[in-house]
Amino acid sequence: MPVRESEAIILRSYALGEADRLVSFLSRNEGRIRGVAAGARKPKSRFGASLEPLSYVRMWYYERETRPLVRISQCEILESFVIAQRSYNAIAAFGLMSEIAENVLPEHEPSDPVFRLLLATSRAISTSGLIALPIGYFTLWTVRLGGWLPSLDRCGTCGRDLAGQGAWVNAEGGVFCRDCRPGGARALSAEALATAHRMLRESVEKLAAAGGPRVPPELTNYLMDLIEQHMEKKLSVRPILELAP
Ligand SMILES: [Zn+2]
Repeated sequence: MPVRESEAIILRSYALGEADRLVSFLSRNEGRIRGVAAGARKPKSRFGASLEPLSYVRMWYYERETRPLVRISQCEILESFVIAQRSYNAIAAFGLMSEIAENVLPEHEPSDPVFRLLLATSRAISTSGLIALPIGYFTLWTVRLGGWLPSLDRCGTCGRDLAGQGAWVNAEGGVFCRDCRPGGARALSAEALATAHRMLRESVEKLAAAGGPRVPPELTNYLMDLIEQHMEKKLSVRPILELAP
């Protein structure tokens, strides 16, 4: 079998047997793949710290005809985010990103926009130390790239323009004005709507470098509701992630 070479982002890795690791990664060329890194748990493994979550790596792997898992032969770190995971909340933030990517990306379908989103968000957390803004940005763009983001400009029932007045939303993705809101809908402030529009226009690097904007927690919670709706299960990391500014 020919060896493949690709840039990749490590999503998760698990202990496998005595000495190996089972690794889920996003190959830039081939999409989400699972493979085995033989000997990765041995003390002097050639993989070193390259298999840590969200590591940006160059990876060499090959497929085995009769097996669903690829064999990872070599992995070199291009950029590590181990040091960025210095707080409990940063660990939760990286864990949330990998959990979402693992659940929303189909296997073997390249997704360069999600690849670049994961990398840009990891870098923003690493360089700014901010959590709420990069995670708000990541969840917004995950929903947008998945095609599940409803229009935030107008009431979905009567069509009223929502700019400057806030909206009401439900977990099914509905967006409503005050008059049309159904029972149980939750408020999204005018600030939350304005921030969402800004995050759709500007890069996370630029926003994080300037230290803002504040991402109201109700916005990220709404976006995580939409992601969970699509995944058809709850995000396990969500309850421990702190989104307050
Ligand atoms: Zn309305």
